[in-house]
Amino acid sequence: MLESYFDTQNVATTMLVNALKDNRLNHAYLIESNDNNDAFKIALAFAKAILCEKHYINNEKCINCVKCTQIDNNTFSELKIIEPDGLQIKKGQLEILQKEFSKTAIQSNKRVYIINQADRLNSEAANSILKFLEEPVDGIIAILITSNIYQMMETILSRCQVVPLLKNKISDDESYLEKLKYYFNKKEDDEILLEKTKQYIKFINLIQTKKEETIISTNKIIGEFVKDKDECLFLFDFMVFFYKDCLNYLLDRKLELFSQNDIETIVKNNNIESLRKKINIVLNLKNRIYNNANTNLLLDKLVITLTR
Ligand SMILES: [Zn+2]
Repeated sequence: MLESYFDTQNVATTMLVNALKDNRLNHAYLIESNDNNDAFKIALAFAKAILCEKHYINNEKCINCVKCTQIDNNTFSELKIIEPDGLQIKKGQLEILQKEFSKTAIQSNKRVYIINQADRLNSEAANSILKFLEEPVDGIIAILITSNIYQMMETILSRCQVVPLLKNKISDDESYLEKLKYYFNKKEDDEILLEKTKQYIKFINLIQTKKEETIISTNKIIGEFVKDKDECLFLFDFMVFFYKDCLNYLLDRKLELFSQNDIETIVKNNNIESLRKKINIVLNLKNRIYNNANTNLLLDKLVITLTR
């Protein structure tokens, strides 16, 4: 169940659990797996928490629940799972789904479909999913999973809330540079990457201390490094990772990437609640990058919201 992933995927699971608790579920989620082995299991745990009327996120409690048992046995009619048929997901597979879901729900007032490896939707299938997403039906929730967000149609992306997972952990013995390259899929020159992240850390600290220099520094960083959408995504991911390590520190957990020295200013000036807020702000703005928002405007907005 979702609770089992709190430690390893804190940001993603907190996002999903809060949506459930506040009863503000989106019509569509896209889990960006980053090759994490748990992506499908997390999607299934989320589906279970939506469909079980008690919305349990804890396994022991749901062990005697009829619905959860049916879901485990794959006999629950209001949950459909679609996987590639051969190399692709084809239109026919979605037609069957749409036909099933046009009937009245019997077992639950909510229905969920999971599309695994959604980047394998062929163009006909992608268009038919798009139609489904464009005219959402109350109570039907889509969970798409992809390891390759750039292969998804932008029109589909813009209708989903993106839920990024962290990659599988690598050994603590790896250097900061090796971890950076691994966690963020960075292939550029080592020195440039190190210099860039040094500036990004400085930027995060300036936002915290609310110095007037922040705006100037923002412009400098934008000018020097954040030249396109990909780089903006990197900055946002980097910030989430950074705040997450600050959370790790406050929760007495091991730091994943940063040194105590890097995070000193932030942990001194924040508590768990304010760090969670910061992570949410960054993630919400990150989602707008996929909707093709102007990256300069987004960075301005980021600074304004975080310094408020
Ligand atoms: Zn249950």
